Amino acid sequence: MTATEELKRRIAERFAMTMVGIAHVSAFDDEPAGKRPADLLPGAKSVVVFGRRLINGALQTVFRKYEDGKKSAFASYQAYASDLAPNMLLIYHTFEISRFIERTYSAVAMPLPCGSAGIQNCIPEDPELPRVAGAQKIDLPFNIGKAAVAAGLGETGWNGYVITPEYGPRVQFGAVITTLELDCGRPADIKLCEPEKCGVCARKCPTKAIPEPGSGSGSINANRCMVASCGLTSEFGRRDIIKTKDPTDEELKAALKRVGKDFPDHLRKNNCDLCLAYCPAGEWEKALGAFSRESGAD
Ligand code: SF4
Ligand code: SF4
Repeated sequence: MTATEELKRRIAERFAMTMVGIAHVSAFDDEPAGKRPADLLPGAKSVVVFGRRLINGALQTVFRKYEDGKKSAFASYQAYASDLAPNMLLIYHTFEISRFIERTYSAVAMPLPCGSAGIQNCIPEDPELPRVAGAQKIDLPFNIGKAAVAAGLGETGWNGYVITPEYGPRVQFGAVITTLELDCGRPADIKLCEPEKCGVCARKCPTKAIPEPGSGSGSINANRCMVASCGLTSEFGRRDIIKTKDPTDEELKAALKRVGKDFPDHLRKNNCDLCLAYCPAGEWEKALGAFSRESGAD
């Protein structure tokens, strides 16, 4: 077993990670200045990226809400499959993995904010608008999804998530930049997401934030996504904060001001996630098919 394999094994076992990979710093050469590994940690040699799959019991509550109208069940999704518990655990474990690398290998390890902390613990360019909405990550401090793809753990899907072979997009990723020289992975030669053949995420997206496959650039309309993921209408949240499903930046700012959200990055962003829950990539049928009427659908 090489030293890199040993490190990956220890991280996977010690911190109960579903997958661990290493991305080379050169994979980020085309990132904007200030967001490349060596910009953040001078002397950076590798990016250690790790993912933990979401639990199916919490994930299936998306179907309870949207198929059965049982909104209360969805609280389990919000607490245990999205922002709260998994993110906090990943943040603590990112910290622990950094401490582990520094202690064990005498290298420097920089923990990267991930999930909600990745969004909230940075300086917003426009404090009146959230920097993230649902699947669409905007201007995060470091592109952890890119690290997962560069390390060969998955590919970027049409829904904006990293699609993994076994769990589709239902994996949360964290990462640590380190001065430790490791054997790096490379993007996997896989084709897990074929939008023209699938397109489920675009069809399921209630605000048409995800373009139809074959149309446009494939980038997600963050404002449209916000309407659903941040629960700005009673269909997704508690009341109608905005009336349109296609708001401009100015309409969003005005709506958020009306409800007194002067730091909108603290908005809950997990009211939708249909593009994640219904994505058939990975072993969806085996893991979640029994809980959804979409099981067996083309
Ligand atoms: S739902 Fe289909 S098209 Fe969308 S990301 Fe998943 S596999 Fe790709
Ligand atoms: S399905 Fe929901 S979370 Fe996904 S892009 Fe559309 S609105 Fe956003």
